[in-house]
Amino acid sequence: MAFELPKLGYDYTALEPHIDARTMEIHHTKHHAGYTTNLNNAVSGSALEGKSIEEILKGISGQSTAVRNNGGGYYNHNLYWEVMAPGGSPKPEGVLLDALNESFGSVENFRESFVQAALTRFGSGWAWLVLQNNKMVVSSTPNQDNPLMDVADVQGTPVLGVDVWEHAYYLNYQNRRPDYVNAFWNLINWDEVARRFKG
Ligand code: MN
Repeated sequence: MAFELPKLGYDYTALEPHIDARTMEIHHTKHHAGYTTNLNNAVSGSALEGKSIEEILKGISGQSTAVRNNGGGYYNHNLYWEVMAPGGSPKPEGVLLDALNESFGSVENFRESFVQAALTRFGSGWAWLVLQNNKMVVSSTPNQDNPLMDVADVQGTPVLGVDVWEHAYYLNYQNRRPDYVNAFWNLINWDEVARRFKG
């Protein structure tokens, strides 16, 4: 079964003014679609065919650059669309809030750490909130790597991620990555983050 480009749960215009419709459309129909097609081409006819994307990523050290880049790109964007919602959703609560407080001291401290990771990632990549051995940590990865990969410096379950490739923000924000990352904060779908945290 081939990997499929997911439909978004909202319109391309729905995240405005934080992320503009044109950026959303190109990001989904060109970039994410490209990773999906290239991943299918890379696994087709190989021993990876039929495996879940998570399984593939956990053993990525043994795979080609094409599988690493496109498998990461496929998974990361699936997560990215889902951890955002028009207008965001209410703040973290319950066990997610407890875990953030325990790991970072406060949600505000977590935010500072997450934004810092996003702003200091040199070039293209992602910043993450990662569940690692029952603790929450912040990390960042280059290119389309992610914390599921056995090559990542910080390995665990990604529960929140922000794309800091220029294609995610350049049309609207040009070089102003801080403005984009702060805008992203307003869109976080905490219900989805909590769902991923609980597994
Ligand atoms: Mn992207």
